[in-house]
Amino acid sequence: MFSSLMMINNMQNTNVDPREIELYIHIPFCVKKCDYCDFLSGPYDEQIQKEYTMSLCQEIIWQSRRVFGRVTSVYIGGGTPSWLPVKLMEKIMDTLRAHFDLDPLAEVTIEANPGTVTGEAANIYRSIGINRISLGLQSAHDDELKLLGRIHTYDRFLRTYEILRQAGFENVNVDLMTGLPGQTPGKLIESIRRVSALRPEHISCYALIIEEGTPFYSRYRADDIRQKNGQPTMELPNEDQAYELMKRAQQEIISHGYEQYEISNYAKQGKVCRHNIGYWTRKTYVGMGIGAASLIAPECLVPKPEGEETGGMGLEYRISNTRYIYDYIDDASHLMAIDPQADAADVPIYDSVQRITRKGAMEEFMFLGLRQIRGVSREDFYQAFGKEIDSVYHNALEELKQEGLLEAREGRIYLTEQGLDLSNYALSKFLL
Ligand code: SF4
Repeated sequence: MFSSLMMINNMQNTNVDPREIELYIHIPFCVKKCDYCDFLSGPYDEQIQKEYTMSLCQEIIWQSRRVFGRVTSVYIGGGTPSWLPVKLMEKIMDTLRAHFDLDPLAEVTIEANPGTVTGEAANIYRSIGINRISLGLQSAHDDELKLLGRIHTYDRFLRTYEILRQAGFENVNVDLMTGLPGQTPGKLIESIRRVSALRPEHISCYALIIEEGTPFYSRYRADDIRQKNGQPTMELPNEDQAYELMKRAQQEIISHGYEQYEISNYAKQGKVCRHNIGYWTRKTYVGMGIGAASLIAPECLVPKPEGEETGGMGLEYRISNTRYIYDYIDDASHLMAIDPQADAADVPIYDSVQRITRKGAMEEFMFLGLRQIRGVSREDFYQAFGKEIDSVYHNALEELKQEGLLEAREGRIYLTEQGLDLSNYALSKFLL
C-alpha cells in the first residue's frame, strides 16, 4: 500500500533552507461553534472583526521587521477565514505582500466553509494571490453534518465547490472525518466516493477527537473512555471499529488515485500541501493572530546590534501568541513602539516563549518527520544536528525494526504501515 519510494521521488527535497519561511494567519471567526470543536474560534460581530484585522495588520508589519526570509507559503486558517468580510481579507493580503518578501510561486491557502464563499469573494481571493482552498466538509451525509453541529448541508458544499472551480481554483483540499458517532463503513465510503468523484487535488481525513469543554465532551465523554479502554461503546465506534473506519478510509481514498503522504493527508501527484511539509520538516514559521504558534530559527531573526547577546547556538524559539482576543487587540496597539529586536519576553502579544533544547529539537525532528509516509532523511538529521541519527537513536531504531514497525532504505527512515497504525507507541521511542 505504501509506495514510499515513489513518494520520495515525487516530492521536493525538504532540506530546510534557512532563507525560506512560512506564515500562518489565524482568523478566529465562525458563524457558530460546531459541537466537537475546541479550536480558538467563535462568532464575533463585524466591529470586532474589523478591529482584529487592524491588529493583525499591525502584527504583520511588526513581524516583518523582526523575522526575515523568503515566504514560500502562507496558510490562513481558523476559525472560518472565508467568513471574514472580503474587504478585510484584501487588507490582510495587501499588508502581507507590502511588508514580507512573498515568493511569486508561494502556496497561499485559505480555509473556507461551505456556504461562506460567494462567486465574487472567490474571484477576489484569486486576484489577491490566494491559490489554494481548504474546504471543511467533514461528511457527505446531512444527518452526520447535523450531528456535528455544522452549518452546511452536502448540497451547499457542492454549490461552494462549483463556485471555487468556476473562479479558477486548481488546488482544492476537502476535509473529511472518521469515527463519528454511529458512522458505518458504508456511510464513510459513500462520503469518500462522492468527494473523490469531484476530483479535488487533496483530501485530509482526520479521526474525531472528543475534546474537553465541547458539547461533544459532555455527550460522549463516557463513551470515549470506554473506547480508549477497549470496552464496548454506546454511540461512538468501539476501538476496533474506529481502527477499521480509519483503515477503510485510507484504502478507499488511495483507490481513487490519491497518494497518502502523511497519516491523515492524501494528494494527487504534485499537490502535497507545501505548508504542511514545511511544518513537519521544522522550517521557520511565523504565526500571527490570537493563539498562533511560531517556530523561529535565530538566523531568521533580524540581528541585534554588534556586541549584544544574540542568544545564538542555533536553537529555535517556540512562541505562542495570547489566546484572548481583547488582550490581543489591546497589546497589538502598543506593538509599533516595541523594538523589533527586543527580547521575546518583552513582546506584549506573546503568551509563551520557549527556547527549544537540542534534545527537544531532535525529538521534534523525529515526531514530526515520521508522521510523513516518506519518513526522515539521515542527511537532514546530520545537517541539523551534526550527528549521525544512529548515534543518537540506535536502540530505538533497532527495536522498532525488529518489531516490524520501521524500515530504513536509501538514506531514509520511515514507519511501516503497522508502525503508522501504532504511531503513538512507535514515536514514544524517540523521547530522549
Ligand atoms: S467551522 Fe471549524 S473552526 Fe469553526 S467551529 Fe466549526 S470546526 Fe470549529
